[in-house]
Amino acid sequence: MTQVSHVRATPTEIEFELLGNLARARGTTVESASAQDLYQALALTVRDHLIDRYIRTTKAHYEANPRFVYYLSAEYMLGRQLGQNLLYSGTADVARSALEALGVDPAEVAALDVEPGLGNGGLGRLAACLLDALATSDIPAVGYGIRYDFGIFKQEFRGGAQAERPDDWAYYGNPWEFRAPDDQQHIGFYGSTEPAGGNRAVWTPGETVLGEPSHMLVPGYGTGTVNIIRLWRARSAPESFDLSQFGAGRYGEAVEAMVRSGTISAVLYPDDSTELGRELRLKQQYFLVACSLRDIIRRYRLRNDGWDAFADKVVIQLNDTHPVIAIPELMRILVDEEGLAWEQAWSITRRVFAYTCHTLLPEALETWPVGLLRRLLPRHLEIIYLINHVFLQEVAALYPGDADRLRRLSIIEEGGEQRVRMAHLAVVGSFAVNGVAALHSRLLTETTLRAFAEMMPRQFHNVTNGISPRRFLLVANPGLTRLISARLGGTDWLRDLDRLAELEAAAGDPDFRARWRAVKRRNRQDLAAHALSEAGVSLDPDALCDVMIKRFHEYKRQLLRVLHVIVLYHRIKRGDLTGVVRRSVVFGGKAAPGYHAAKRVMLLANTVAEVVNADPDVAPYLKVAFLPDYNVTRAELIIPAADLSEQISLAGKEASGTSNMKLALNGALTIGTLDGANVEIRDRVGADNFFLFGMDATEAAALRAGPYNPRTYYELDEELRAAIDAVVGGPFACEGADLLVGELLTRDEYLTLADFRAYVDCQDRVAEAWRDQEEWTRRSIRNVARSGFFSSDRTVQDYCRDIWRVEPVPPGRD
Ligand SMILES: *Cc1c(COP(=O)(O)O)cnc(C)c1O
Repeated sequence: MTQVSHVRATPTEIEFELLGNLARARGTTVESASAQDLYQALALTVRDHLIDRYIRTTKAHYEANPRFVYYLSAEYMLGRQLGQNLLYSGTADVARSALEALGVDPAEVAALDVEPGLGNGGLGRLAACLLDALATSDIPAVGYGIRYDFGIFKQEFRGGAQAERPDDWAYYGNPWEFRAPDDQQHIGFYGSTEPAGGNRAVWTPGETVLGEPSHMLVPGYGTGTVNIIRLWRARSAPESFDLSQFGAGRYGEAVEAMVRSGTISAVLYPDDSTELGRELRLKQQYFLVACSLRDIIRRYRLRNDGWDAFADKVVIQLNDTHPVIAIPELMRILVDEEGLAWEQAWSITRRVFAYTCHTLLPEALETWPVGLLRRLLPRHLEIIYLINHVFLQEVAALYPGDADRLRRLSIIEEGGEQRVRMAHLAVVGSFAVNGVAALHSRLLTETTLRAFAEMMPRQFHNVTNGISPRRFLLVANPGLTRLISARLGGTDWLRDLDRLAELEAAAGDPDFRARWRAVKRRNRQDLAAHALSEAGVSLDPDALCDVMIKRFHEYKRQLLRVLHVIVLYHRIKRGDLTGVVRRSVVFGGKAAPGYHAAKRVMLLANTVAEVVNADPDVAPYLKVAFLPDYNVTRAELIIPAADLSEQISLAGKEASGTSNMKLALNGALTIGTLDGANVEIRDRVGADNFFLFGMDATEAAALRAGPYNPRTYYELDEELRAAIDAVVGGPFACEGADLLVGELLTRDEYLTLADFRAYVDCQDRVAEAWRDQEEWTRRSIRNVARSGFFSSDRTVQDYCRDIWRVEPVPPGRD
């Protein structure tokens, strides 16, 4: 279907290449190859088809010497690579034919493709969607990250409770990655500093770790550009293996130093509930930043001399605060190693960095104890103090006598143990700060970063998040992609998502609507097969597919979703079918291993699922499937099947959300609050196509500020009371339910009870709308037609125009 025009391979050629890779890389033949052999050989074959394009891209970049975007992120949730790279290289059809000709089942081989474990949730998936759009838009860019050995845990349910298993994602090798063990960086930690005149110092680290780079290809869609993501793995020097200890039989001691270095890139987000765990996280952050900055400088020096042009050729986007230690690190390099004057170094630094803030929750704003920094990165702490000193002098000059403002703006948090506020360091050291949805960016300047926004208003921007239509339509939903392509004539719309507007008229075409419904039904069938095998739940492919997929967090309010399910259960039990249509309620999401409150909600959801699915009165109308181990691969299966998108966080808490966009673009209607990017989704798709309920951010803040008594809602609302009672002593009782309900009735921090009635009534309107399938389909099509804005290509355009000021570099011709 989606052949890129310049691919000329035939099935026979691909077959030939595949057999060659099987022989050369796996040392085997098709007769004796294992499925893993075939998968690895196929991956290498597909990779070969991207390599020429990568080399041409590199050449074009070298010749143009353009300004580059360097994206620094602790996480990337790339999703599986095989399907994407087959489609982007235009080899999908020929590869399938080649495999079949060899008597190999393509699906069996594709099933071995493992999702890289480099990310956690929305922030990591955003990074991946932006890299995809950068390459598709021909923007010179490199993503930097850590090559974790173990990704976020794999989730299982034991007795309905979350159990975590390690994710050794590259156990059989990652064929998409090029390793360069000879190209290592030496990264120091600990040690001491000595003044070296002026603002300079000499830092003598107490420990050195090697950073080994590897890179993965990031192809653009429908263009010759292939960018890369460069990932760092921590290693020790070969001599750190202690041969004499080993000889004496002390095997553990022999490898101790090796193991210690390796722990830096061993796991994504190590448990930070201990002092050692926190130190390891900070080590990871510095490791990522130090390796990446050296690489950025090396790349700059390939075509440029001196430092004058650095800020013209380099823009570094900091994805949240995790990489913010890059700011003092660049200062250290410029001042201590390169001998630049402080003012000159600061002027360069401040023109290079831009910072994306991803939260509003004050408790989620990262800080580090000064004591830890002094031990781990002594020179960086000195530099941070000096940055703060100079900055506070500026503040004092602007606001004479305003000690309170100094305290609020300071990079150092006083009171008790001194801590470094990474978000403040980021704002002070960057030329631009952005939030990730219009509402979020506004609230940032009004609350969380208000004092900064008052001082430097022009530095603050909004860049609303987006998602890759290639990943979430072309790869995830081939049926809908084909249907849209047939209507719009070809697949160009996948690079120009505003063209979806041309579907508007198709909503009036009964034949198109029937085909739209057929695609959705097919996708629900696929999901049902998965739900049966993974969760043992049989879903009705004709039921309303009602989906809530996201990390488990109290502010996202999965609990509200569960309470509504209990309401439906009670209604069906007593024969009241108000608001009841056949419904499949689908959950997906992980909770942080130490987040007990979220895990209680999870256990409750599973308990409710078990009771509901087993009840013969209820099951014909209502099924609940909690699909384990939510990740990008699962998202690609669930999203195309969804009819209803649950975006029900307490208004003012969700920065943007992106599953709301993915679901909208796959034809699901949204039920949601005015939170994050929901606001913009509703503006675009129209109030008729968005089931709005609940308080807005202002109302929620006001209710929070006053005396709030959640118990009143419990007492006054019969259905709510019945639902809660059923959790404490009734059919849904489970471990921790008393704690859950106790919190709900006394504090209810996320105002679940205050929004309960509005939510349940709104769900009744959803059911009413679902009964008219023709009208629902019209709305579904219009939703998609009006959601083109949420392409990550538009997000990248906004960044390019407002913040990065970079230009595309067209790829060289074949
Ligand atoms: C999109 C996505 C998220 C983010 O979901 P939100 O609803 O925006 O929190 C998290 N995890 C995965 C796997 C995703 O694809």
